Parts: sequence; C-alpha cells; structure tokens
Amino acid sequence: MKPVIYLDNNATTRVDPEVFEAMKPFFCERYGNPSSIHHFGGSVAADIEKARCQVAELLGAEFRDRDGIATEIIFTSCGTESDNAALFAALGARPDRHKIVTTAVEHPGILACCRELERRGVIVEYLPVDSRGRLDLEQVRRAVNSDTALLSTMWANNETGTLFPIPELAWIAHEKGALFHTDAVQAAGKVPIDVDADGVDFLSISGHKLHAPKGVGVLYVRRGVRFRPLIFGGHQERSRRGGTENVTSIIGLGKACEIARRNLPLESVQLAELRDRLEKGVIERIPDVRVNGDIEHRLPNTASISFEYIEGESILMLLDRLNICASSGSACTTGSLEPSHVLRAMGLPYTAAHGTIRFSLSKYNTREEIDFVIESLPPIIEQLRAISPYWQERR
Ligand code: PLP
Repeated sequence: MKPVIYLDNNATTRVDPEVFEAMKPFFCERYGNPSSIHHFGGSVAADIEKARCQVAELLGAEFRDRDGIATEIIFTSCGTESDNAALFAALGARPDRHKIVTTAVEHPGILACCRELERRGVIVEYLPVDSRGRLDLEQVRRAVNSDTALLSTMWANNETGTLFPIPELAWIAHEKGALFHTDAVQAAGKVPIDVDADGVDFLSISGHKLHAPKGVGVLYVRRGVRFRPLIFGGHQERSRRGGTENVTSIIGLGKACEIARRNLPLESVQLAELRDRLEKGVIERIPDVRVNGDIEHRLPNTASISFEYIEGESILMLLDRLNICASSGSACTTGSLEPSHVLRAMGLPYTAAHGTIRFSLSKYNTREEIDFVIESLPPIIEQLRAISPYWQERR
C-alpha cells in the first residue's frame, strides 16, 4: 500500500515519537496514582508538575506558586471540555452579568455550549465576520457591554486558519469589566502565545492538535480569576477538575509543548513555505479557484481552497484513492451537503463553499508530498467539472 499523504492535521496529528518515548514508562512501570500516599504513586505527581510547567512555558504563563508550581494550568480531557469549563466558570465569576459575546465561526465546543446556555437564560451574541473571516473591532466594542460576563473568541480558525487580534479583543473585554477567553486549540504550537502580555483570562488547548495524544487538554485560568469547576470530584488539579489524572497523556502533552516551543520559530517558516507552494501550484494549474481566509494573518499550516462548481466531497473521495487525506469545508447534515457554518458566515458564494477543501500541514509533510498533490489535483478537478451542471452552465 502507498504511504499516506496526511494533510488533515487540523483534525488531528501524529504523536511525535519523542512524545511517545516520554510517555512509555508511565504505562507499565510507573503506573501509580499520583494522589497515593506511597512513593511509587506519589512520585508521579512531580512528573505532572513538570508537564504543567512545560505547558505554561509554551503559553507564556509565568506565574509559579511558592512551590514552583504553574497553578494557572488545569489539565482537562480535551479542548471541548476546556471551552465548556471556561464559559461556565466566567458566568460563575460574574454572577451579576448575563451575557456572553462570541463569534459565528467558533468551533462547536463553544457554539453548542452557548446554545445550551441560551436555553438556560443566558444572552449570547454571535459576532459576524467579513468575507475574509475577520471581525470588525468596532462591532465587538458595541457588543460587549456592562452586562457581558465574557468575550470568547478563537485564536485561529480551524477551517481557514484566520487569526483574530487577541490582545485587542482582550483589551475590549477588560474595558467593559468582562473576562476574556480564547480557544487556542488550533493556534498552540503554530503561532507564538503569551497569555501574560496578551491579557488572556482563560485559554483552551488540546493535546492531539500538537503531536500529543488524544484525550488530554488544558484550560489556562489567570491567577486571581474566580473559578468554579465543571467536573466535581476528588482533589485533583487543586479541586478544579475532579477525576484521576490521565497521566500518560499529560506527560505526553508536556513533552509536546516543550518540543513545539523549541521548534516554533523555524517550523512555522517551513510550514508557511510548504503551504504557499501548494496554493501557488494549485492556482497556476487550475482555473476558478480561490484561497479563503485572512491571507496576511493566518496559521502557517492551513490552506482553505475553493474549487468552484464542484462538490468538495467528490474531490476528497478521489484524493483518498491516491491516499491523500484532506477534509472538506462542508458538514453533512440530514443527507444534504451544507457548507460549513464558517464558510456561510464568510458569505462565500454557494458554488465556492461547496467545493472547499482544507489542507492542513504538519512538520512531517515534505516538499515531494506537496508536489504530488499539486500534480494530482488538476485531472481530478477536470474530471469532476466535466460532469458538473454548474460548470457547464457557467461556460
Ligand atoms: N476548538 C477548535 C478550534 C478545534 O479545532 C477543536 C477540534 O477540532 C476543538 C476546539 C475541540 O478539541 P477536542 O477535539 O480536543 O475536543
């Protein structure tokens, strides 16, 4: 079988072998419970604290308590849990306020939680974006008011890679006495993050997006911000998240953060080069394509490309036959192929939104792989357009 060309890294990433090595001893040798009194279990707690510091360093969270512990970092089970925990915690921290301001292009980890909060009486305002996926800061300023408990915006969009201006958004929230949360699940490890300098109160990340395993995430909570847990239980995570720690994955995430921090400056340049090569190659060879998102401010690894007048799913199936993995900007709802909420919010024409493919790269991709994709796409697009009524009509 031909090796897979994996260009779906915003969905999930390969675990870095260095991460896997760091995790190994905690499966069969050092498997004790970190809450145990005995040394065999208890000694694992120190490894968790080391991982906590590794995460804090990637995020620029400098605070350490008297014991040198990065207490602003809470380990969770995933990015979605971190997002949910942040929304509930913010409402708990500002009981006199009843409104959340967020954007129309968030991940379901935020949007579905907001819908539930609306059912419980919370007012939620969903800010629109322009055709490049950008927010209008004046509009944000008007939406955040004295009743707003939280402004929550993603750092980087998972479909287009568009980056939001985090320091400015945090500033707007604080001006009105609101808290600021950012879903940095796609940003962590790909762009520099400095929670202290950027004025972030809550921040979510997820292990499996940065070469750590699935099933572990982090919620950063700024020191001094009142926090009520989402999951009540034992005294783990200083009583802020009950449940025995996912030790192996926490160790893996710590290692992945250390690697990401070390490699970020060089890797982000290399990724952007590969992404630009892909986009340029496609644009040169195929007519009627467009690149989506804020071209000047976006993740180095993400290319959202619309191939007009054809279905993204058909492109993906033909790519799959060549062992090329990507994803579409469409979500399949009740049998009809609807463009994703992100592309709809950006107002992409119907004919472009349906034919949108997201290529998301990682440090494991090579120039040869990108060139193979560039060569493979033109015949696929030609074949599909030949049977597309929209393409015929357009001609
Ligand atoms: N937020 C964003 C922006 C994401 O892209 C994702 C996953 O795709 C999540 C949150 C959810 O993360 P997890 O899969 O760890 O729950």
